[in-house]
Amino acid sequence: MDIDKIKVKLHDLFCEEASIVLYESDKDNIASADIIDTLNIGRIVFFEYKDMSAELRDEPFIVNVRYEGENYNEDDYVMNRSVVPSGNVVRVCIFPVEGYSWNDEERQLVGEFLLIISTLKSRIRMKEFIEYATFHERELGFYNSFYLGKTLSMVQKLDRLSEYSIIFFNLVNISGINSMIGRAEADIMMRRFGAMLTEGLEQPECLCRMGGDNFVMVARHEHVDTLLKILNGTDMNGDASFWETIRMSAYCGVYHCSGHEKSFSECIDYAQASMLIAKNTNHANVQFYDESMVRIVTNTKKIESRFKDAIIKKEFVAYYQPKVNLENNMLIGAEALCRWNRGKKLITPDQFIPVLEKSNRICSLDFYMLETVCKDLASWMDKGKTPVRVSTNFSRKHLGNPNFVSDVINIVDEYRIPRSLIVIELTETTTESDLIRLTECVQEFRKAGFDVSVDDFGVGYSSMSMIKDVPFSEIKIDRSFISSDSISDRDMIMMKHIITLADDLGMTTIAEGVETKEQIELLRKYGCYRAQGYIFDKPLTKEDFEKVLDNPDYSSRG
Ligand code: C2E
Ligand code: MG
Ligand code: MG
Repeated sequence: MDIDKIKVKLHDLFCEEASIVLYESDKDNIASADIIDTLNIGRIVFFEYKDMSAELRDEPFIVNVRYEGENYNEDDYVMNRSVVPSGNVVRVCIFPVEGYSWNDEERQLVGEFLLIISTLKSRIRMKEFIEYATFHERELGFYNSFYLGKTLSMVQKLDRLSEYSIIFFNLVNISGINSMIGRAEADIMMRRFGAMLTEGLEQPECLCRMGGDNFVMVARHEHVDTLLKILNGTDMNGDASFWETIRMSAYCGVYHCSGHEKSFSECIDYAQASMLIAKNTNHANVQFYDESMVRIVTNTKKIESRFKDAIIKKEFVAYYQPKVNLENNMLIGAEALCRWNRGKKLITPDQFIPVLEKSNRICSLDFYMLETVCKDLASWMDKGKTPVRVSTNFSRKHLGNPNFVSDVINIVDEYRIPRSLIVIELTETTTESDLIRLTECVQEFRKAGFDVSVDDFGVGYSSMSMIKDVPFSEIKIDRSFISSDSISDRDMIMMKHIITLADDLGMTTIAEGVETKEQIELLRKYGCYRAQGYIFDKPLTKEDFEKVLDNPDYSSRG
């Protein structure tokens, strides 16, 4: 080949098609063989450096001889240098054959050839880098959630999901390990632990890091036991002078894919929900997916994640259940009870209060409810209606808030509601320290002009001693005392004593859950003259309760 032909060839190489040829046959340089011959090229070498400082020290981590003739002229070469996206530096050097030196024209052509090779090399590195960065997390270099998604969607497309299990695991006490041996060592250990787990696995089996100390493994069913053994606890040996052994273990949730899942992400969700059960209930470190348990966790997650938005969108509404004086059948008050209005569905508190009670979310809800009650009371007064005292429920969680009482006062005062119209309903406490704080709060509330009622009285263990010490204004006798069809003698004796004791201590009593005339008779007999229950009304919407305010006499209703 003569120089002119090489010019044409180089031109071709610049064209996309030619570059693809070179790109794919880079290893054997098929496309460039003619050029190598004609230009008397003796050697082509790639040097790759981790970064510029490695380049300055001349410490390449890869030296890749791409072409080597029989001999070459070491003293004459053309070099191109580029920095690829990962930060690596790539140098490409082309040497002439031994005893040969290029003339100017040849040197220029060698330069052009070099430029093409370097460009293509960078392009390969760029592609590799993009692929790596897309499918790996940056900190430790594990596969990431994109990779997991790609893998599982491929397995699902091949209709082979049913051959695999998903293990979602959360490393135990990784922050403790971090502080024990230092972050850098802990990172090394996590990588080693990862390597142990993936040893012997074959694609598409994989280990992916979802973030922090959460990982997901895709594994064939028959590998699950072995993996769980490692995950259940493995001693990792360290550099003896620094740390000797550290035990790595994880909380695991395992889901055997059935292949009938709508989407592979369902499998991950189930495994994750199972892991949360393993983590949050102290039975075992491993939980295999079980539909009923997982439904609870999923529901909890749903409620927690929707809560904030629901408060903003005012989805929680107050229902009012009337309280009636049994001596004259007149309305004497109401209890505000929360409902979650989710468009078509009205959710009752038993479905969300216990979940919110697990965090301080319940406190936000209680204050929101207090505000709603204040607004409603204000609107009734504005309309010229005679308001009644409304009780609102407050979780025991508030006792941990040092400003609990003043927070309540601020809301009530802001809406200019007379404090005597608000009754604070609190349930019994269980611990000694809670009792001290409860006493303090009740005293402060009473001093500020609020009435305080003890809800569900009689179901706790400390009932009797508690009302001796805490200055409640009212005792709400739990509905379990009167709700059974035939009330037991024991219940009746208890109820009689509660009513007498409350009387002696200057507290009023009210019975909740009253459903029958017989129950009313019984309450009258023992001297409890206040009641709340379905016999009068279920919890009513604000509008329906307004009608009761307009017509507060229950005798006229039959
Ligand atoms: P609670 O405070 O003891 O409220 C009384 C519950 O008994 C209400 O249930 C009410 O609808 C129900 N009930 C009333 N009369 C009868 C009856 O004659 N028969 C029967 N079987 N049940 C009756 P609800 O509204 O489902 O509330 C359940 C619990 O949820 C409440 O018990 C209270 O502990 C909690 N709760 C409701 N709203 C709130 C709130 O805003 N904050 C907090 N912290 N808890 C709330
Ligand atoms: Mg209540
Ligand atoms: Mg109650």
